[in-house]
Amino acid sequence: MTSIAANLQAVRARIAAACVAAGRAPGSVELLAVSKTWPADSVRAAVAAGQRAFGENYVQESVDKITQLGGLGLEWHFIGPLQSNKTRPVAENFAWVHTVDRLKIAERLAAQRPPNLPPLQICVQVNVSGEASKSGCAPAQAIDLAVAVAKLPGLRLRGLMAIPEPSADTARQRRQFAMLRQTLEQINAARNGELDTLSMGMTDDLEAAIMEGATMVRIGTAIFGRREYTL
Ligand SMILES: *Cc1c(COP(=O)(O)O)cnc(C)c1O
Repeated sequence: MTSIAANLQAVRARIAAACVAAGRAPGSVELLAVSKTWPADSVRAAVAAGQRAFGENYVQESVDKITQLGGLGLEWHFIGPLQSNKTRPVAENFAWVHTVDRLKIAERLAAQRPPNLPPLQICVQVNVSGEASKSGCAPAQAIDLAVAVAKLPGLRLRGLMAIPEPSADTARQRRQFAMLRQTLEQINAARNGELDTLSMGMTDDLEAAIMEGATMVRIGTAIFGRREYTL
């Protein structure tokens, strides 16, 4: 077994244990393998171990990789910061975008989504830590943004995403994840409960995220190893 296969097995076991601890159904949390900075061969090793959904952060790197791996039937999720001049390749190559934090980005993705593809699945990114440097809309703005995004053609709003401020304190991790869950609950209360996705939890905090209702965790380091560089 490759180390990537062994790592994937260990991550699946962590997710399953966290579901049991949270009293949630096993299988209620989807695993997104975050392959940024890793070559197509690393993705192939994960695919051979049964992984189908991958997260990428950098537009050029990811489009190259998606092209190399075309035909494998993989599901690609864009999870990086998105500038408005880079939306077209994202609209054309990805199944999901987790990082919509302003209407202008959503409008461009909607206009640029090729009509022969299924709707682009969208999460609105919320800044749950209050750090000025973090992307994401303020929690108080999330409802208005979600309502506006949900009206756009070519897109299907699925839920919310957050990257909390890193913390070794589990209680603090959980407070930030709880804020995202509560924001989703408010939007569903106002809109009759259509949103089903909470994209939250990474290598160091996936257990806290699952405790607070994560439906999709985004795991890089625990699967592929420590990244040697950032782009
Ligand atoms: C890199 C990244 C991840 C994966 O983080 P790890 O700590 O390596 O698991 C998840 N989400 C986003 C948005 C990322 O940029």
